Amino acid sequence: MALLMIEKKPTVDVLPAAQREAILADPGFGRHFTDHMVTITWTEGRGWHDGRLVPFGPLSLHPAANVLHYAQEVFEGLKAYRLPDGTTALFRPETNARRFQHSARRMAMPELPVTTFLQACEAHLRQDHAWVPEHGTEKSLYLRPFMVGTEPGLGMRPAAEYLFALIASPAAAYFAGDVEPLSIWVCEDRVRAASGGVGDAKTGGNYAASLLAQTEAAARGCDQVAYLDAVEHRWVEELGAMNLFFVYEGRAGEPPTIVTPPLTGSLLAGVTRDSVLTLARELGWDTRETPVSVDQWQADAAEGTLTEVFACGTAAVLTPVGVVKRAGAEWTQGDGAPGRVTLKLRRMLLDIQRGLAGDRHGWVHRV
Ligand code: PMP
Repeated sequence: MALLMIEKKPTVDVLPAAQREAILADPGFGRHFTDHMVTITWTEGRGWHDGRLVPFGPLSLHPAANVLHYAQEVFEGLKAYRLPDGTTALFRPETNARRFQHSARRMAMPELPVTTFLQACEAHLRQDHAWVPEHGTEKSLYLRPFMVGTEPGLGMRPAAEYLFALIASPAAAYFAGDVEPLSIWVCEDRVRAASGGVGDAKTGGNYAASLLAQTEAAARGCDQVAYLDAVEHRWVEELGAMNLFFVYEGRAGEPPTIVTPPLTGSLLAGVTRDSVLTLARELGWDTRETPVSVDQWQADAAEGTLTEVFACGTAAVLTPVGVVKRAGAEWTQGDGAPGRVTLKLRRMLLDIQRGLAGDRHGWVHRV
């Protein structure tokens, strides 16, 4: 397929360098945006056209645009890092490009070619590379590609017009406490996604659907919600924006076993999840994609065989789980401190992402 031209229309940077540096010193997460964005239009009969790199700014939408009423929307999240030699790199962007296509198919939206997705990321990163925080910190630049149905009209059908856009936001460590363990509320009444639904698509509605449970968890003093399956309310699926892993350390001298729920269609196929499984297999550890019930979680934690639980995702990398609460019960995972296996996998992943360790899988995409 011919490459779409991304026309460069940047004028000057929107922010003076001193202001950018001040933001990079304390970026938070998702609060500040870089100077430019990429936009590409899709129109029925014409396909993808008018790729542009333009100054960051508001979008103009018709009040009857499909996305505002029927929520045809998909998005992605990936990070750019600065390598030791000062250049920048994305982590496994083709995997995000393919998941973006998967999400689009599920939402009856057009698929952006993988090459165009990569072109958009690269064009953006080349322009706004000064926004990638310096090497040696846990900061990164978070890229947020998204696509919305823009065709005006209240008829209930797939839009005939879409806008793809890519914006970027400098990011500190996702959780203020960095490797501070997360506290988890196991939600046994509200569900995030059902089999046959859209749980494995990265579409805004899944996140809107999770906000109430998240608010209720916060009121119980928990950082995140663990969602269960929608039928039996028994099998652990994932957190609102992270996958979960269960670690069984094994007897002295034996490798650990790490278990994560299988991709049944109602949870997201995380890029970090896949990377963790790959790294653990390489270490010779036993990896299993099998269902884990919340009762088993509680029982194995009480017995001490379940030695660690961690959450993983692009934003949070790997974060240990500390306190777990469910209706009528509360327990602390292990001794409540970050575990050996979690910290080892976390370090391995961070080192690959930042160019400090060999990249035998071709995960580091230099720009
Ligand atoms: N589950 C959900 C629901 C998510 O939104 C995310 C973040 N994309 C993840 C898991 C983790 O996926 P990844 O490792 O690709 O960031």
